[in-house]
Amino acid sequence: MLDSRIRTGAGVLPSRRLVLTFDDGPGLTTGAGPGPRTRELGQYLAEERIPATFFMCGKHIAEQPDMPAELMALGHHIGNHTWSHRSLLSLDSESIQREVLSTRQLLTECGVGGPIAFRPPFGEWDSRVSAAMRANEQIRVGHDAVFLWNVNADDWRSWDHGAAPDDCARSYESAALAADSGIVLMHDSLADDGPHAARRRAANRTLEAVMLLVPRLRAQGFTFIPLSQVERQSPRQRALQGIRSIEARVRASADRVWR
Ligand SMILES: [Zn+2]
Repeated sequence: MLDSRIRTGAGVLPSRRLVLTFDDGPGLTTGAGPGPRTRELGQYLAEERIPATFFMCGKHIAEQPDMPAELMALGHHIGNHTWSHRSLLSLDSESIQREVLSTRQLLTECGVGGPIAFRPPFGEWDSRVSAAMRANEQIRVGHDAVFLWNVNADDWRSWDHGAAPDDCARSYESAALAADSGIVLMHDSLADDGPHAARRRAANRTLEAVMLLVPRLRAQGFTFIPLSQVERQSPRQRALQGIRSIEARVRASADRVWR
């Protein structure tokens, strides 16, 4: 049953624990070169025994309806990221429910049982969106919690700028060290509309970045756990996290001086 309080992953996990999450897919690319590679990503993570969560958009699931079951068979989890990836803040209650429910129903047809995790597009969430979701019985039953993230380095922006996967991996490594633990946001595809989004989607190199990032994070002492182990943080944990993030910022600025 949906608990619509936000979980960011900050301050709720033991030190050096991370959850990997991938948004906006699924997407497949044939041949060599950049582009969405949800299948290869799921396979690589399974080989590394890392259980990830893929927050998928209905419009992309409709193009790759076998991917949710394929990823689950590899030990991963599937979350709902709405149908068309519009900001829910811009929609009326009926449209919010349609965006969420259509995707949930398609996932059921694809073999994904409930309840599952939900992540709003762009992380945009407020009390009105929360109320619209809770007002619908099927949405309440089909989902368990709302997850944002606390470790992010905008992988999609790297591909937009033509950055190397190694640069992207380094940015994520720094973000993980600064946060110490939590939920990592990356993108196995991109679900925005428009010509820029199509170009960014085709330039995706997140698989390569993840294959560089995972060994580096392991060398730093990080281990990977499933999203289901993230509980909602208590006020005390939030306060502790605040102290830790200040310490991490001090460390990060000291590092920069020496580089
Ligand atoms: Zn997204």
